[in-house]
Amino acid sequence: MTVSVAPVILPNGRSVCALGQGTWFMGESPDRAQDEIRSLQAGLDAGLTLIDTAEMYANGGAEEIVGRAMAGRRDEVFLVSKVLPEHASRHGTAAACEDSLRRLRTDTIDLYLLHWRGRHRFSDTVEAMEALQREGKIRAWGVSNLDIDDMQELQGVPGGDQAQVNQVLYNLGRRGIEFDLQPWCAQRGVAIMAYSPLEQGRLLDSPAVEDVARRHGVTPAAVALAWTMRLPGVIAIPKTASVTRLAENLASLSLTLSSEDLATLDAAFPPPTRRQPLDML
Ligand code: NDP
Repeated sequence: MTVSVAPVILPNGRSVCALGQGTWFMGESPDRAQDEIRSLQAGLDAGLTLIDTAEMYANGGAEEIVGRAMAGRRDEVFLVSKVLPEHASRHGTAAACEDSLRRLRTDTIDLYLLHWRGRHRFSDTVEAMEALQREGKIRAWGVSNLDIDDMQELQGVPGGDQAQVNQVLYNLGRRGIEFDLQPWCAQRGVAIMAYSPLEQGRLLDSPAVEDVARRHGVTPAAVALAWTMRLPGVIAIPKTASVTRLAENLASLSLTLSSEDLATLDAAFPPPTRRQPLDML
């Protein structure tokens, strides 16, 4: 496979593939566990080493699936998990991290994210993240679902400028961040991790996306993902529990969209012309 999408370099110098693997809705049914594990492992075999999970998904069930998928190959994985806002106090973060490490069957998480902003002060969460980092339980930390005003506030907290990523909803149909949040993060080197890059599959029957896919002989999913990763510093984390769909998604890494393709997609999904509050799922 020829990879034409550049890796993303995080502020701490870690280089990660711009295409990762999501896990929301994994771990919910024992009947599907084998498919989920197989798909994550096939992704690792193909070089999709970033796996995104969270304590929230299936109440820890997704982390257990990831733990099983990583068995014997933890060193290959760039592991991302998230703490729920209600746990994100000084002590609650530490306890939640311990629980995640146990379910993930590992002793460290590469990137630990605050899932969204809750009632706990940023300063408490940042202190907890720093303590976990000193103890080696996490290697780095970041945030999710923070709009620009929250990001600015976080930067004002001691150590708050160490956030490596902001994981937000970004896809062809959700372009609001291009107006302000994405350029703000890019200026500071904070990577954007685009969640629901396929809009949970709803983007895939768009005539414009289908049209561009036909031009390149790929699937609509590959087009939607290549579009999301066209900006430097953006990582897409589609979820699939199917090795067939995984192969379709992998094709995005070798797909370069032309200016004509981008114009077709812009016409169907116009870029923002004014500030919009951050969308969330
Ligand atoms: P996605 O946009 O990744 O879409 C996932 C859905 O699309 C699944 O139903 C999957 O089904 C299907 N799919 C995947 N590949 C293809 C394909 N090639 N063709 C057709 N259908 C396909 O949505 P998610 O919401 O799962 O987002 C991705 C990840 O982002 C999550 O799994 C999670 O890790 C993270 N996330 C983070 C959030 C946050 O608040 N921080 C919020 C939401 C998501 P199947 O498995 O059957 O292939």
